[in-house]
Amino acid sequence: MGKNLTKRSDDYSKWYNELVIKADLAENSGVRGCMVIKPYGFAIWEKMQAGLDRMFKETGHENAYFPLFIPKSYLSKEASHVEGFAKECAVVTHYRLKNAEDGSGIVVDPEARLEEELIVRPTSETIIWDTYRKWIQSYRDLPLLINQWANVVRWEMRTRLFLRTAEFLWQEGHTAHETENEAIKEAEKIMHLYAEFVEEHMAVPVIKGIKTESERFAGAIETYCIEALMQDGKALQAGTSHFLGQNFAKAFDVKFATRDGKQEHVWATSWGVSTRLMGALVMTHSDDNGLVLPPKLAPIQVVIVPIYKGIEQLEAISEKVDPLVKELRNKGISVKFDNRDTHKPGFKFNEYELKGVPVRLAIGQRDMENGTYEVARRDTLEKETVPMDEVISKIEFLLEDIQKNIYQKALEFRTAHITKVDSYDEFKTVLEEKGGFVLAHWDGTLETEDRIKEETKATIRCIPIDAEAEVGNCMVTGKPSSKRVLFAKAY
Ligand code: AMP
Repeated sequence: MGKNLTKRSDDYSKWYNELVIKADLAENSGVRGCMVIKPYGFAIWEKMQAGLDRMFKETGHENAYFPLFIPKSYLSKEASHVEGFAKECAVVTHYRLKNAEDGSGIVVDPEARLEEELIVRPTSETIIWDTYRKWIQSYRDLPLLINQWANVVRWEMRTRLFLRTAEFLWQEGHTAHETENEAIKEAEKIMHLYAEFVEEHMAVPVIKGIKTESERFAGAIETYCIEALMQDGKALQAGTSHFLGQNFAKAFDVKFATRDGKQEHVWATSWGVSTRLMGALVMTHSDDNGLVLPPKLAPIQVVIVPIYKGIEQLEAISEKVDPLVKELRNKGISVKFDNRDTHKPGFKFNEYELKGVPVRLAIGQRDMENGTYEVARRDTLEKETVPMDEVISKIEFLLEDIQKNIYQKALEFRTAHITKVDSYDEFKTVLEEKGGFVLAHWDGTLETEDRIKEETKATIRCIPIDAEAEVGNCMVTGKPSSKRVLFAKAY
């Protein structure tokens, strides 16, 4: 019914863009590469934040806030870090505007040039480690486990709503540790935490692994990641967690007195997930009718639509529905009774389908006579008639079942789209004809990795952490390899 949504099979990319806009998640703004997140989209992001924030706190982390601006000299202190980020920095050079002398409008006041230029943070390691120097003196000050919820700016050239924007919202964790081992454990712990969140709240299965050197975060010794597979067979990096060694402690001179009275540089991690997760959510579950949201993140879990003629019928329906709404709310279920008389039921059905509301109840005259509701689930679009006194337990069952079912469906899709190949020809064929993840042997060199990327556009998404050791030969060079790595074309 008139959603006019492009079909996934016709043009997946167009389908995604239309859906994000039509479902009221976000829209483009007047600022290149920057989006407006609309209330419905932001409500989902808030639920993600709440879930993650609880998990961070349960694992001992605390929130803090650091400045948006980073003096240019800070960014330069860690060589590989600045090299990685220099290409995409927004720089503040002046602090004042004035009226142009020729009356042509407002111009930058050349006299108001900043003595030191400021970078709009692309990530906050440098400003945070400059602060940690003041906070850390002794092993008693460690570990320091801090998270920040913030916006960052990376001047991306090719942007897509949520997936890659010039400004994005994220959380960034920055931790400081006494030992190398403890910092590595922290970076791994967060990778597992991210995987748990993405799988259990977002119902998106992920593969955990480590990045190759060329895909590593600028300034990291090791980057751990989680990788998800979208319905068009492309991979999406859903989260990263970095072991930074002592790189930032050395750059910012952060030392601590050890238990045996020596001075040592502090060990570090950093980790982040962003509004890109919204894109992952949409691309994993949604269909040609619109969004499909996991109940745990749906702003509205249950919508109730009355079907009536005239105010008397609506009043009678409301008498049944009002106590149900109360009871559902008491159980912590978010429910909306859409009794607007400015829109027809068909319009409402359409809208909630487009917006991915997991459970829809409808109640009309026949239901009133029979003491029933019509209950529809968004994931399978199945409908059934349920007696009023069973409707609450039905809803509770459905919210759990939909959460499980969409995870299972995504997992089956992913399983069907992981292919093991042993030759480079086979690799190319699979990428072209089927897409998805490809597990293959690689000789561990940058040259081979670059060659594959150039010739096929596929990159090594990660070296999966739970890949079994399997001796083999690199599909390109024939050199020995000790395990398969995970390739895909990626967003
Ligand atoms: P990084 O600091 O590069 O490790 O990235 C941290 C997180 O932000 C990762 O989960 C990335 O997928 C995500 N991310 C990186 N760049 C962007 C972007 N331009 N838009 C949205 N998310 C991003």
